[in-house]
Amino acid sequence: MSGSEAAARLIDGRAIAAALREEVAGQVATLGLRPGLAVVLVGDNPASAVYARNKDRAAASAGIETRTIRLPADTTEAALLAEIDRLNEDGAVDGILVQLPLPPHVAVRAVIERIDPAKDVDGFHPLNAGRLVDGLPALAPCTPRGVMKLLEAAGVEPRGARAVVLGRSAIVGRPMATLLLTADATVTVAHSRTRGLARVCREAEILVAAVGRAELVRGDWIAKGATVIDVGVNRLPDGRLVGDVAFAEAQRVAGAITPVPGGVGPMTIACLLENTLLAALARRSAGADQKSMQRPFRSQSP
Ligand code: NAP
Repeated sequence: MSGSEAAARLIDGRAIAAALREEVAGQVATLGLRPGLAVVLVGDNPASAVYARNKDRAAASAGIETRTIRLPADTTEAALLAEIDRLNEDGAVDGILVQLPLPPHVAVRAVIERIDPAKDVDGFHPLNAGRLVDGLPALAPCTPRGVMKLLEAAGVEPRGARAVVLGRSAIVGRPMATLLLTADATVTVAHSRTRGLARVCREAEILVAAVGRAELVRGDWIAKGATVIDVGVNRLPDGRLVGDVAFAEAQRVAGAITPVPGGVGPMTIACLLENTLLAALARRSAGADQKSMQRPFRSQSP
């Protein structure tokens, strides 16, 4: 980069996530809680095993009791649903996370919908998704929640800003757009059928890329001074990990930008811990002995 080009401010997800993890650990210790998180792992996908281990470690260091339930790849859908029923009934479990992807013979939706919404720390259950859309307190998906926290920590105000979310998945894009809208941004959601994608992106003051296409977003797709949040994690054939944004080009134009790795990724895990704490608090205030199946989530606003 030549000396005359200003580089965007880096939004340090690792540091912001570490602060959030400490905050959660502090609250767990102060309140004398022992929140319980169950992680269900089906099959032997190596990436899933790494994610599960990372979640396990981070949870343990925040004072959250974790339990990893490992099931063989040929586990039937019925057996998996029965395991979820057991965890739903288990008073020591505040949060249930089923690691995706699941083997192809298992219907992901059926599994997600079986989780008690009060224990749905991934925030994927339709009850939580619906409450989020209605602007009600809900367990929100960890990645978009993490993005909102990154914006806040970086001093980027969504209110009144033009935000573009690239991607419309149930896990990232849709809840991301909802959270930005709830925060009073003017939101456009773009996807694979969007015409004039570069032009749409150039309108963004806040651009969130969640497409899973290596370096799709080029420098000339970005408005000068925009905040760019790169959710994408893509492995190149040479082994390098890159985001959905061409980082070096974007950094010359943007006002602030998240790196990959070290941006959104660490926030996802930190928000999972926070969701587990929120679920534990809500369940205790609602009476942990009470049957919680289908009970709407009650807690402070996310
Ligand atoms: P997904 O379910 O595959 O959704 C991708 C979205 O991008 C879809 O809405 C798709 O449009 C859109 N899209 C794909 N190609 C496009 C193109 N060429 N132009 C415009 N839009 C395009 O993926 P996801 O689960 O949302 O994840 C997205 C990325 O985030 C992945 O790289 C994933 O690894 C990463 N991720 C990271 C974290 C983290 O913690 N850092 C967490 C979750 C996901 P259609 O709907 O039209 O098909």
